[in-house]
Amino acid sequence: MADPKGFMTTPRQDWPRRPVEERVRDWDEVYVPGALLPIISKQADRCMDCGIPFCHEACPLGNLIPEWNDLVSREDWRAAADRLHATNNFPEYTGRLCPAPCESGCVLAINQPAVTIKNVEVAIADRAWELGFTPPRPPDRLSGRTVAVIGSGPTGLAAAQQLTRAGHTVAVYEKDDRLGGLMRYGIPEFKMEKHHLERRIEQMRAEGTKFRTSTAVGRDIGAAELRSRYDAVVIATGATAWRELDVPGRELSGIHQAMEYLPLANRVCEGDLAVSPLSAAGKHVVIVGGGDTGADCLGTAVREGAASVTQLDIYAQPGGERDEDVDPWPTYPKIYRLSAAHEEAGELRTAPAANADARLFAASTLRFTGDADGHVRSLHLVEVDAQRRPVPDTGRTLPADLVLLALGFSGPDKEDGLIDQLGLELEPRGTLTRDARFATNVPGVFAAGDAARGQSLIVWAIAEGRAVAAAVDRHLTGSSRLPAPIGPYDRPMVV
Ligand SMILES: Cc1cc2nc3c(=O)[nH]c(=O)nc-3n(C[C@H](O)[C@H](O)[C@H](O)COP(=O)(O)OP(=O)(O)OC[C@H]3O[C@@H](n4cnc5c(N)ncnc54)[C@H](O)[C@@H]3O)c2cc1C
Ligand code: SF4
Repeated sequence: MADPKGFMTTPRQDWPRRPVEERVRDWDEVYVPGALLPIISKQADRCMDCGIPFCHEACPLGNLIPEWNDLVSREDWRAAADRLHATNNFPEYTGRLCPAPCESGCVLAINQPAVTIKNVEVAIADRAWELGFTPPRPPDRLSGRTVAVIGSGPTGLAAAQQLTRAGHTVAVYEKDDRLGGLMRYGIPEFKMEKHHLERRIEQMRAEGTKFRTSTAVGRDIGAAELRSRYDAVVIATGATAWRELDVPGRELSGIHQAMEYLPLANRVCEGDLAVSPLSAAGKHVVIVGGGDTGADCLGTAVREGAASVTQLDIYAQPGGERDEDVDPWPTYPKIYRLSAAHEEAGELRTAPAANADARLFAASTLRFTGDADGHVRSLHLVEVDAQRRPVPDTGRTLPADLVLLALGFSGPDKEDGLIDQLGLELEPRGTLTRDARFATNVPGVFAAGDAARGQSLIVWAIAEGRAVAAAVDRHLTGSSRLPAPIGPYDRPMVV
């Protein structure tokens, strides 16, 4: 660290967000462009080089955080980019989208605001692109082995890049028309602009990875045929089988799953549609589900011009501080967090003024009622206690012309036929069965990411993609020098 007293002299400063009234009028990322670079070296200098970096342990990728904090504090961007890319294929994605469990584990966070680790990560990633430190890295020679990766989300892309760089010939099959999985069709533009995807995909193409879009394995190409054509297959198809809300009135029109709604807004940003057919413009919107997917619906509905918006969370509102008895440091605590989208509802919210945002906590949906045309018009709810028992006399009705269900996902989608055609076994909870080496019950077929782990995070998807690549490389060649942040071949560092 350039300044050993940095953590005492410099207060935490986050990448500033643009004013709410400005950013809700566009789809661009919420942060002030160019405002991170001038502050980030001093922020990195707050890292006190504590000696036992719990942040590094808390990051599923094993990112070398104290090392790159030091390099950024000295403005050695090339070395910082090298150390960052040693453990993370796509730091511009995690630097924008990760909930940053590393910061909960920061030693400084015991009694002070943590180092802005995620901001340092994204600054390095963006600077590396600007300064040309991210060239394609094609393999020196080819192995003659072939791998099919099914799914182009962060898991599939990370696995494909690692395996290509190891010399294998890799083809990624994607059923959507564009690459990126939920980062493309799901996560809104205001959280991550899609040009970040294009740039990496170009890098991967230049390294030799092949991409086959609009090809659903199981439907457009037989899964068994694919298996016979390749030496190994990686299934990285995500967990997009959504959970339902089985209450009276669910059949009314105007009630949609979040993942029916969000991709249409993505398509508007891509220029495929002028207006989303499910646009929230002028509508009273209620989002059922208090998680991040619900927050993405909220930010999208606000930008589309909703008349009002409310997000329902079945859990009670958490406290603002870590409860040391429940979530002691350095774990990731359940606390009240205000995402960028939650700041944006403003006067559109129908939730009580006690909340700073549009969420109603401890709220359980009882039923929907509609108009004579069968369109939803109201949502009826009741407050619940910690055991989800209704609290007497707390029933209320919200206006609802558009209801979005964001209740989570149970496992991989089975409709394409891929799972049946290969005869893959499933866990009782619906995810793909695999062993510690990422192998499924079918020889030569591996599974990783949300499809096997269940609904998770980008950082875990990249970690799984890297780890499954090491397992496949070992399967094909008998050994592997690829780093694997998780699993039996745990070798997080590459020098
Ligand atoms: C709305 C939303 C917002 C989120 N926001 C965040 C966030 O801010 N931060 C964060 O860390 N995580 C977030 N997540 C979670 C994160 O996006 C996922 O954990 C991650 O994308 C999983 O990666 P994956 O590659 O395993 O699967 P996915 O990203 O789901 O990709 C799977 C891909 O496989 C393709 N596919 C499926 N079946 C087939 C087939 N038969 N043939 C060919 N292709 C197929 C799909 O079309 C898809 O492109 C969010 C999730 C959602 C739904
Ligand atoms: S990937 Fe997430 S946990 Fe890891 S360093 Fe980046 S923000 Fe922290």
